[in-house]
Amino acid sequence: MDFSLTDEQEMFRKTVVSFVEKECPREVARQYDENKQFPYDFYEKIARQGWFGLPFPEKYGGNNCGIMELILTTEAFAKYVYDIAGGYVTTMFCGLNILKHGTEEQKDYYVPRIVRGEIRLAISISEPAAGSDAAAISISAVPDGDDFIINGEKMFCSGAEAKNTIITMATRTDKHAQPRQKGISVFLVENDTPGLTMRRIETLGRRTMGTFSLNLDNVRISKNKMLGKLNEGWEVILGNLDKERIVASSAYVGQAQSVVNDALAYAKERVQFGKPIGKFQAISHMLADMQTKVEAARLMVYRAAWMLDQGLPASKEVSMAKLFSSETLMEVATQGMQIMGGYGYCMEYDMQRYFRDAKITTVSAGTSQMQRLIIARHMGL
Ligand SMILES: Cc1cc2nc3c(=O)[nH]c(=O)nc-3n(C[C@H](O)[C@H](O)[C@H](O)COP(=O)(O)OP(=O)(O)OC[C@H]3O[C@@H](n4cnc5c(N)ncnc54)[C@H](O)[C@@H]3O)c2cc1C
Repeated sequence: MDFSLTDEQEMFRKTVVSFVEKECPREVARQYDENKQFPYDFYEKIARQGWFGLPFPEKYGGNNCGIMELILTTEAFAKYVYDIAGGYVTTMFCGLNILKHGTEEQKDYYVPRIVRGEIRLAISISEPAAGSDAAAISISAVPDGDDFIINGEKMFCSGAEAKNTIITMATRTDKHAQPRQKGISVFLVENDTPGLTMRRIETLGRRTMGTFSLNLDNVRISKNKMLGKLNEGWEVILGNLDKERIVASSAYVGQAQSVVNDALAYAKERVQFGKPIGKFQAISHMLADMQTKVEAARLMVYRAAWMLDQGLPASKEVSMAKLFSSETLMEVATQGMQIMGGYGYCMEYDMQRYFRDAKITTVSAGTSQMQRLIIARHMGL
């Protein structure tokens, strides 16, 4: 078995890591969170690097790279603030859905704009009554000539309010369909479409992207903006879910590594009872366990990404990696807070931000309970 990156991948990884150190250092990440500021400037810079084009074919201006290159990118992006990676993951994942399910016209229009960083994509599946049970979507899209009229409410759409954002929105087009998954259609809705209003939801963490509730009041959308076929939106939503989950998981690993790095540096510096606290076995063993778990999470993510790149079925491995990396991030962030004592609780240190941002990773992109359900099904349960 060979777990090493190729020379090109290692060179690429180093390039992204040093880019993040220069363009999104600790102080900048802190400001994004404190000011609840969308990272437009950072995204403009990565567009100039060509990194919005990584997974897309050359004919659209992309680089035709695999999932492995994507996860190396997001692992590095998440170093200081998770949302830098989060916004990127959503645009990549929705863009891949357009590539897979879009008409030729849709692909020609949207994909080059994504690659150039001119548009970004958000995903809106959740509703007040549709969380883990995503098939409970009820927001209605009713045909009206060449258009559809959408009415209803959506919850938790991350990054929905950012400039030039297109919301990939799952709607109900057949309310009698059985099973319920058969009556869902997806539309590409520009976030300045008349009749669409948004409200920012105040959250514990993930404040850079922000998450929004949406109200749609007679929103008129052309049928040309339907992604995939009528009533077959469930396949569109699920189409690249494994890729989204694994790329998000690599960002959890990137953030978890920062937690360990910060806690380790603190344990070497903080002196109590005449010696650095890292010299106390209780602290040094906690750090050893933290690094071991992060390394295990990284290996699980890399293996699942490798399987996807080989075209192998990897749904179980992706769910295992998502489950383990998100729970590891939450666990090490809690331990990191403990190692820093009272200082971890202070807003001037980054540990509290890692801790706040970590909390949602076991919920978003499918809760830990849902991942266990998927894994158990693969085990024949
Ligand atoms: C910051 C943030 C950003 C988000 N971004 C987006 C986004 O961009 N787009 C989007 O569509 N959604 C987004 N979400 C929504 C997110 O995907 C949901 O919160 C998630 O799917 C869980 O749904 P819920 O919160 O309604 O919880 P529920 O589904 O109500 O679950 C509550 C609890 O019950 C458990 N549970 C539910 N069903 C079962 C079961 N069958 N077996 C065992 N346990 C079960 C869950 O695991 C959980 O612990 C975001 C949420 C947040 C907070």
